[in-house]
Amino acid sequence: MEPNAAKIAGLVRDLLIELGEDVNREGLLRTPERVAKALKFLTNGYRADLRHVINQALFTQTTGGMVIVKDIELYSLCEHHMLPFYGRCHIGYIPDGKVFGVSKLARLVDVFARRLQLQERLTEQISQVVLEEIGAKGVGVLIEARHLCMMMRGVEKQNSTMVTSSVLGVFRDNLATREEFLNLVGRK
Ligand SMILES: [Zn+2]
Repeated sequence: MEPNAAKIAGLVRDLLIELGEDVNREGLLRTPERVAKALKFLTNGYRADLRHVINQALFTQTTGGMVIVKDIELYSLCEHHMLPFYGRCHIGYIPDGKVFGVSKLARLVDVFARRLQLQERLTEQISQVVLEEIGAKGVGVLIEARHLCMMMRGVEKQNSTMVTSSVLGVFRDNLATREEFLNLVGRK
C-alpha cells in the first residue's frame, strides 16, 4: 500500500515545530512535502515486486564459473536512527544454469536497501534471494558501509567502515571457493 504523503508531511511539520523550528520561514515552507516524497522513495523497497525484478533478468547459461559483480553502490537507512548508511556491495555466485542480468543485481540490492535496515540483515537478505530465486549453487555477499549514525553523533567514528558478509551453499561449504570470492572482491 502506498504511504499517505499528506499524512507524512503533517507529521514532519509537527516534528519541525517540536524541534523548535519556524515552519513558516521561507526555506521550510515546502520541506514537509519534500521530506515525505524523499521518504516514500527511500522506502519503496517495501512495495517493490521482487518476483517481477527477478523474472525479467534471468538468462540461461551453462558455464559454471563464478560470477562476480563488484562495487554496487548502496544507500540505505539504519532502522535504529533512520539515518543513512552507504557504501558498496559485492556479490559473487556460482550459477546453476541461470545467470542474473548485471544491472538487475544492482536493482535487487536497491529493493532491499530502500527500507529501514540493519546492514547484517540486508547482507543476509541479498544472499538468500540470490541463492533461492536464481537457484545458484552458492553465493557470497559482502557489504562495506559507513553509518552516519556513527559518524555524526554518539561515538563520532568518522573513518570506520562496517563490513558484513554472508556466504551460502558452496561458498559456505568450500573454503577454496570462499577464498576465491574474497580475493576477487579485494578483501584478501
Ligand atoms: Zn543507526
